Amino acid sequence: MSTLTTRITHLIGGRPWEGAAERTGDVRNPATGAVTGRVDFASTSLVGQAVATARAAWPGWAGTSLAKRSQVLFAFRELLNARKHEIAALITAEHGKVLDDALGEVTRGLEVAEFACGIPHLLKGGFTENASTKVDVYSIRQPLGVVAVISPFNFPAMVPLWFIPVAIACGNAVILKPSEKDPSAALAVARLWTEAGLPDGIMNVVHGDKEAVDALLTHPDVRAVSFVGSTPIAKYVYETGTAHGKRVQALGGAKNHMLVLPDADLDLAADAAVNAGFGSAGERCMAISALLAVDTVADELVEKIKDRMSKLRTGDGTRGCDMGPLVTGQHRDKVAGYVEAGAAEGAALVVDGREGDFDGGEDGFWLGPTLFDHVTPDMSIYRDEIFGPVLSVVRVQSYDEGLDLINANPYGNGTAIFTNDGGAARRFQNEVEVGMVGINVPIPVPVAYYSFGGWKSSLFGDTHAHGTEGVHFFTRGKVVTSRWLDPSHGGLNLGFPQND
Ligand code: NAD
Repeated sequence: MSTLTTRITHLIGGRPWEGAAERTGDVRNPATGAVTGRVDFASTSLVGQAVATARAAWPGWAGTSLAKRSQVLFAFRELLNARKHEIAALITAEHGKVLDDALGEVTRGLEVAEFACGIPHLLKGGFTENASTKVDVYSIRQPLGVVAVISPFNFPAMVPLWFIPVAIACGNAVILKPSEKDPSAALAVARLWTEAGLPDGIMNVVHGDKEAVDALLTHPDVRAVSFVGSTPIAKYVYETGTAHGKRVQALGGAKNHMLVLPDADLDLAADAAVNAGFGSAGERCMAISALLAVDTVADELVEKIKDRMSKLRTGDGTRGCDMGPLVTGQHRDKVAGYVEAGAAEGAALVVDGREGDFDGGEDGFWLGPTLFDHVTPDMSIYRDEIFGPVLSVVRVQSYDEGLDLINANPYGNGTAIFTNDGGAARRFQNEVEVGMVGINVPIPVPVAYYSFGGWKSSLFGDTHAHGTEGVHFFTRGKVVTSRWLDPSHGGLNLGFPQND
């Protein structure tokens, strides 16, 4: 096994950082377990340097015309498209997800860059002529300044791309703090901005852990924070950032349910459950982890799912497998612990992913697709976000019982209903307390021109990612009331202005 490791360092002011880090973290290939990189961790003072660099560069970019800004966006889009296979390979090497899936993630991120190319249109304000006699009123949206993006391990390229193209198009300077577990893809994407013609200092990357995050959350020159990660950290980021006067959107964890009614196409539902339960080894915030099956069709559905699972190949993401390893050994052990707990708590273990043949290195972080049936809401496999390839079937008697379970759940990221009854589907979209809803679509990730975000403990703050909500988040509104006096006007009047 090779012992060569790559140094992964910060990108500040358009250049790789040349200092020596006091702390570093190991980056591993999850399919082999080998350490392949060492990532520098930023200290508080280094984060301060990055913020100062961004702050100094920002006014020039904020003052750059929309025509020039959108040209940079178009150039970035072209570069990202041209390099998407390289970026996907970096994702697979550090995250473990299979290459096709990694490419899909880059493509979904690319769509946000395409959306942001339309920034001149998106930033158009309103104008009212003659709101009062010879008085015009208009609204404008202006950039915030330096903004921070803090991202999780599970979509190392796509999640930063949910925010960065929009933030930059709106005229902000960005500091990205990617996950320390798989930092290379985000760094490679960040480098493309310089090639696209973005001025140095507008796109910066600092790596690290809590120290770097805390430095961003408390720095007075960071105006806004976009965070994606687990719920406890999202809550912490939201509370700390807002306490320091920042605008914060903090997207948290999930426990996504799929409700299958008796009139659903069960083959379609079984395909969907397998794809959405085990794609990316269940390490997706939109993964389905609880399948609510109405009892009359549950046996048949479980059989169909089991049959499909027997055809899945788990292994190294570069070898054409269906599912890759989990991201770290620690995470694999945690997920395997849930499998043990589910069995001990009395759920029926239909497929045990701990037993399996894995097409990858002996020391890879392997766990195969796992299926539980007869799961009840008091079990830990139902209550907790497992974030692994474990699908739990909960049997319900009716639509209402399924809906009640979904609405009682503390999370509200994504959900799906499978049915051929348009009335039931319409009721569901109206009654379910979840931010993103699929009707016969298991992973309803909104397209870039809509906004991505959950409800309840899946989002702290009120603004979702990308789409017009993203533009709103990265700008401040201003309303101008304007009167150009002609010489006939004048005189004193201390009363409150009234329209006439
Ligand atoms: P995480 O919360 O462990 O880490 C996210 C980011 O926070 C990383 O950059 C990490 O370095 C930083 N961080 C970790 N601990 C910290 C601490 N104590 N203080 C300050 N910063 C800290 O999440 P993860 O394991 O990387 O990602 C998986 C989680 O993200 C899952 O819960 C998943 O549901 C969630 N997620 C949510 C969405 C969404 O859109 N709602 C999307 C993707 C992932």
